[in-house]
Amino acid sequence: MKTLFRPPCHVGVVGRWMLRRAYNAGNDAKAQRLAMKLIDKGHDALFAQDVLIRSLWRTSAYDKVLEFTKCWPEADFYGLGTQAAERLQGHRPIPRIRHGKTPPRPLQTVEFSATDMVTNWHQIESDLWFQHPDGWVHWTMPDGWELGTCHPSLLELSADVLLRPWVTSVRSPLTPGRVPGTELALSWSAGTDSTAAMQLLPTNTILGYHRRTVEGLLDHRNADRTIAAVQNGGYRVVTVPSDHEIIRTHHGKSIGFSTDYASGVHLILLADFLNLGGIAFGVPSDNTWLWKGRKFRDFPSTHHWKTWSARFLEAGLHLVLPINHISEAGAMRIVSNGPWANVVNSCMRGNGKMGCERCWKCFLKNGPLGRPFDEKSREIKTFLRSRPLRTAQHALWAIQSMNVEHLVPDLAHLLEEDLSWWEEAYAPGLELIPSKWREGVEERTREYSLQILDEDSPLSRVDIKFETDSGLSHPPEASKTAALEG
Ligand SMILES: [Zn+2]
Repeated sequence: MKTLFRPPCHVGVVGRWMLRRAYNAGNDAKAQRLAMKLIDKGHDALFAQDVLIRSLWRTSAYDKVLEFTKCWPEADFYGLGTQAAERLQGHRPIPRIRHGKTPPRPLQTVEFSATDMVTNWHQIESDLWFQHPDGWVHWTMPDGWELGTCHPSLLELSADVLLRPWVTSVRSPLTPGRVPGTELALSWSAGTDSTAAMQLLPTNTILGYHRRTVEGLLDHRNADRTIAAVQNGGYRVVTVPSDHEIIRTHHGKSIGFSTDYASGVHLILLADFLNLGGIAFGVPSDNTWLWKGRKFRDFPSTHHWKTWSARFLEAGLHLVLPINHISEAGAMRIVSNGPWANVVNSCMRGNGKMGCERCWKCFLKNGPLGRPFDEKSREIKTFLRSRPLRTAQHALWAIQSMNVEHLVPDLAHLLEEDLSWWEEAYAPGLELIPSKWREGVEERTREYSLQILDEDSPLSRVDIKFETDSGLSHPPEASKTAALEG
């Protein structure tokens, strides 16, 4: 009878099945536990070792990946040991280069000009094509837009925001003479920061939505729902699809905006069509008055502000930062107190109704609003462990406001003081807003019950230091750009 009962094999098959199921379901804690069990018992050791290594890699536990691949080199089928060693030394993977659509035949023989940016733009029907040194990108422009009626300074400024880090000639003086229009447009992503900006600006502000057409993790359903809601509320929304975020993949970066203001390039291109005198961006104080979200700086005297505000003016456009005096937390409060509270969701991986609950945005922007998030998700855990903590001032406020200090025991000393001032506004920021719109912004800031703190605000003393740099690389974030809509 004993020979018929073969527990080792049975345990092996069931164990293997359970392990595969846990791994495929993304339950890494369980997968790692089951794998260790199989390895200890000597069942399916190679299979279990392989899954364990891949699961540890997936949870960014690079030190353990390195340790185990040294023990079991034969189970390291994907060379993860070497990659883990590189990650531990701070190396980041090189993103894949993306090539845009090939332009229609007449354009295929045209060469890029580094000296005359205007000649790099071409219109074929409703498609606007731009040649950069490594290829082509394009926009689908609204009906009636004509390249020929665009002032050259707008095409030059557009080339500047798209290529400044890599092509120095785009910094040349712009063709003078564009007369500023009378309208204001906002580069609007349908997320919290830019919706707060929208709420502080006049209701006739035109909302320009850039629709990324490159494949990726972004899900437009949350944005689509918000777009429909604000359109029903009477706002004019102009959506411009484009793949221009691939330009920087030719320079070792992931898909995203070439510069902070590339997020509004569609509005620069539309400036004559829409008769614009200003373009607004929803950049909160995290990225203006704070350096990297953790150290106070006098924003008006920064090279960044001086350069870009003057550059936009060269093209007859005011650069308007209507929430530069407000933090991400303040922006969240404005949206919560406004008519769009239930439709705005900053998560870019959501399903149109809810956030994904697993990304850093869900933690920072949905958590404090009482929306669910999973503190065990890989992305949230990795961001919480990384030092310096990304967008530190806001993250500390979020941690304190949700009472989840236990997630960052080493940062207890930074959480002793009450951080609720972070939700209020900072008076000096109002001065940066052109006089035409300043009063309205100030009035509405108060209407949404934000206090306007003077220059002595605790903001002016922010200087968050981290004792150690964990060396952990940040996982890819759902954000389009870390700097603008962080
Ligand atoms: Zn999310």
